[in-house]
Amino acid sequence: MTKIGVLALQGSFREHITILKKIGVEAVEVRLPEHLEEIDGLIIPGGESTTIGKLAVDFGLFEKLRAFGREKAIWGTCAGAIFLSKDAHRQQPLLELMDITVERNAYGRQIASFEMDVEIPALKKVSPNDAPFHAIFIRAPLIASVSGGAEILATLPDGRIVAAQQGHLLATAFHPELTNDDRVHRYFLKLVG
Ligand code: GLN
Repeated sequence: MTKIGVLALQGSFREHITILKKIGVEAVEVRLPEHLEEIDGLIIPGGESTTIGKLAVDFGLFEKLRAFGREKAIWGTCAGAIFLSKDAHRQQPLLELMDITVERNAYGRQIASFEMDVEIPALKKVSPNDAPFHAIFIRAPLIASVSGGAEILATLPDGRIVAAQQGHLLATAFHPELTNDDRVHRYFLKLVG
């Protein structure tokens, strides 16, 4: 049976675990390097990317996470997407696994948090439901650029990139774990294989 780990240093890891269990997947919290040895894929939740990065360094997880992502699937939501990126234009620990650059808190104060229906065509691979995905953005980053092996999975109507994929690596600027829609989780399971 597939076992998914959720990095549980800070942020919305409990919500991811709840939704994974709901779709019948074994889900465990990852806090220590050895926890990575028993899982097939990893979710890095939303939260505060600087904090997650610093804690990953302190807990001896940083290099292990990088090595894990070279071979196995990782999905970063919001702060997790920042942590996966190769550049966030700030001094903070980044895994640099994905060829994406991000701009933190890109949506400004007024609309720092908002919800929007987003078309994600790739979800058709896991569900006959082709309704747009109700995406929740909370002080979200913008995926400013996608290069190399990374591709765009979803944009806002104005073209701003909100989801990207690079092989078995997935980044979403929004929070599918805060909705009842499990399609992005099921899409990630497909990348886990
Ligand atoms: N603003 C946070 C950061 O820059 C991300 C917010 C979130 O994960 N909801 O790390």
